[in-house]
Amino acid sequence: HDRIVDQDFLEEDSFELSLRPTRLSEYIGQDKVKENMAVYIAAARGRSESLDHILLYGPPGLGKTTLANIIANEMEVGIKYASGPALERGADLAAILSSLNPGDVFFIDEIHRLPRTIEEILYSAMEDYCLDIVVGKEASARSVRIDLPPFTLVGATTRAGDLSAPLRDRFGVVSRLEYYTTEHLQMIVERTAEIYDTPILTSAAFELARRSRGTPRVANRLFRRVRDFAQVLGEGLITEAVADDALERLEIDDSGLDYVDHKILRGIAERFNGGPVGLESLAASIGEESQTLEDVYEPYLLQEGFLKRTQRGRMLTEKAYRHLNIEIEDKKE
Ligand code: ADP
Repeated sequence: HDRIVDQDFLEEDSFELSLRPTRLSEYIGQDKVKENMAVYIAAARGRSESLDHILLYGPPGLGKTTLANIIANEMEVGIKYASGPALERGADLAAILSSLNPGDVFFIDEIHRLPRTIEEILYSAMEDYCLDIVVGKEASARSVRIDLPPFTLVGATTRAGDLSAPLRDRFGVVSRLEYYTTEHLQMIVERTAEIYDTPILTSAAFELARRSRGTPRVANRLFRRVRDFAQVLGEGLITEAVADDALERLEIDDSGLDYVDHKILRGIAERFNGGPVGLESLAASIGEESQTLEDVYEPYLLQEGFLKRTQRGRMLTEKAYRHLNIEIEDKKE
């Protein structure tokens, strides 16, 4: 079943739309990105120009789509959306681009999954605001040039390394979103509680924040689950005790790890004597795709220092042993 701590957008997250901050000043955390963006926006507005193309990268759920919307809002322009893998035909791209108003934002999610042919059409669109498309078939085929209004492409990706160099080079601004600090996640939880008109104690907001894996999407999702417990089993107020109890029922431990994380860590301890173990063997031993392990499961464990990557594979850290309550002396060096 779905993981509650999944960073990807799940069906149950449709409520997120109502939680999205709409101004830069409401966007919590990511201070460096925010400061730079404020300058670029002010400069572009001052010159009455469209904003440079912007590439946002970082793990899912950190606020890339939200930021793209905010950029359009702050520029007082419209925004159109597309997703890399869904943009299959040149004609679809042409239709969107020619429907833009001057200065509009065109947001492409998962831009690293854009088909090659579409990517190549995008080059001239980004650089010269024009499209070269082929019309007609075979002998009667000819290339026509369509002029486009100036626009801002905002691309979002979880894998900046997968972007081709020519595409990456066409972005004037490349910003990396970081995992959020507990302090900022706490502010996000408190803001969400306010929007939901649900009272929450500071200590409970802190507890939720601490266990949200640095990710606003996870924080908001946990908040909603905990709020249900508070409403049904308590008196509506979210206290630390209510939060603890709810998270325990949801099998989220006090570091924000869930059953999948435990399966991975225990697997390395028990089957591979703590590692090093190669990605493929580890994936096979827990019945997951190695790509999923690498992209989805592993990053948080690495970031929090439960796992480390070595030349010869993944290894459990002392922190992981302590967390799992396994004696380190059992393990051979
Ligand atoms: P991504 O596009 O990176 O996957 P989203 O922009 O969809 O992430 O963000 C997920 C949800 O998290 C948003 O709907 C919003 O409610 C919340 N969120 C993200 N970033 C912030 C932030 N900086 N401040 C407040 N809420 C945020």
